[in-house]
Amino acid sequence: MTLAQPRPQIVVMKFGGTSVEDAAAIERTAAIVAARRSHGLQPIVVVSAMARVTDQLLAAAGAAGEDDRKTSIAIAVRLRERHLNTAAQLVHGDLLESLVTALHHEFDALEDLLRGIAAVGELTPRTSDLVVSFGERISSRIVAARFARADLNGAHVDARTCVITDSTYGKAVPDQPAIEAALTEYVLPLLAAGHTPVLGGFIGSNAQGITTTLGRGGSDYTAALVGGALHAGAIEIWTDVDGIMTSDPRIVPEALRVKTISFEEAAELAYFGAKVLHPATILPAVQKSIPVLVLNSRNPANEGTRITAVAARCSSPFKSIAAKKRLTIIDIVASRMLMAHGFLKAVFDVFDKYKCPIDMVSTSEVSISLTVDSNEQLPAICDELSRIADVKYEGRKALVCLVGEDIRGHNGIAGRVFSAISHVNVRMISQGASEINMSFMIDEEDVEEAVRSLHTTFFTNPDATVFDTAASVAASK
Ligand code: ADP
Ligand code: ASP
Ligand code: MG
Repeated sequence: MTLAQPRPQIVVMKFGGTSVEDAAAIERTAAIVAARRSHGLQPIVVVSAMARVTDQLLAAAGAAGEDDRKTSIAIAVRLRERHLNTAAQLVHGDLLESLVTALHHEFDALEDLLRGIAAVGELTPRTSDLVVSFGERISSRIVAARFARADLNGAHVDARTCVITDSTYGKAVPDQPAIEAALTEYVLPLLAAGHTPVLGGFIGSNAQGITTTLGRGGSDYTAALVGGALHAGAIEIWTDVDGIMTSDPRIVPEALRVKTISFEEAAELAYFGAKVLHPATILPAVQKSIPVLVLNSRNPANEGTRITAVAARCSSPFKSIAAKKRLTIIDIVASRMLMAHGFLKAVFDVFDKYKCPIDMVSTSEVSISLTVDSNEQLPAICDELSRIADVKYEGRKALVCLVGEDIRGHNGIAGRVFSAISHVNVRMISQGASEINMSFMIDEEDVEEAVRSLHTTFFTNPDATVFDTAASVAASK
């Protein structure tokens, strides 16, 4: 692999679904990118599908797979209308004409595909990826067309020519050397010619050119892969809140903006449910120490959150509280073997076989409890486990995770955490795996109350060096 030289002038700017949700949002996005260019920077723009489109495409694919052609095509028809309306508000004349032709071409292909799925009556992961890819393929075309004006000089790039992955449909693994080579071939010459490259996030293709996706929320990952491969000066994640907040503002409206947070803290938060950032986003950036910023496209003057290699010292033990729902606790009791040598391996081998990631583990002499994302393979997993132990599982659980590098220096933290939630039934507790988080499992319906109560306990007198105490901006959706 060639090692890209740092290119401080390149800034990868990723705009999420709400930042391209309609013509007004795309105009705001255009102004934000134009401002970067006017400061001599070279933006590469990565866009998500317009808000809610990925969910709708998945619903269309699902309906087609169940032979419900009518529902499936009706969704596609509504999507065509929404995208054409947006296009007509953004560009005019010949440009609109060629954009409309391109959009019809994409939607005709989408409808043909949905009819094909309905005819076969089966939706494979590979075909599902192809259906959802239309969201980013189409949004990126519309944004690139709006960017065709002189101040932006936009150029559309089909992300599938650059983001090369393996063939794990639904959660493809990127091939970083191939991505670096493709970006060098297709994107760098566009920058050199003064263009703003615009590509869809989330989508890629395998070595045979078959469409893949990086998993839900994967546009952040695309931005980080592009930024990492080209050794950009910064990666900016533009979304609909003022940055990484002390909690999800949809749960805690008075959440505060965290001004700076370490890579490790941000990764931990993302992994444990803070939707604002895809968990893998941080990795390509950490490897090359590229700063990542989380910014609000509805409030671009705000400084957002800066993710840095080293955490700022803070008098508060935690930076933020995340919560992840739809988890299942599995209790495995080794009645016959009393945790004999090799028992843990046998248990983990079953999860490995089903490629099922585990969030939290706790063990005693004879039992193991662990938590996994609820998924349709659970019955099969438990069936197999029951050959070596007694197994019970219970869904509708949630994990609450408090993250901060300053946990280390604080005594009596666990006491404060658990007295804040003394009325909640705690099923499992974990601290110490990473030294920067404290997590516990509770019933799903207790999450909102537990998070609010913890927020009041830990963020009522915030440290102004790390948190924006001036004002809190609630999520606007
Ligand atoms: P985008 O479409 O821009 O990728 P997402 O919906 O994926 O946006 O992520 C932004 C959302 O993440 C916010 O609207 C907010 O509700 C949610 N969120 C969850 N936890 C946090 C947090 N700690 N800080 C900020 N936002 C959070
Ligand atoms: N559109 C994709 C999703 O909704 C990817 C993304 O927006 O990051 O999951
Ligand atoms: Mg997202």
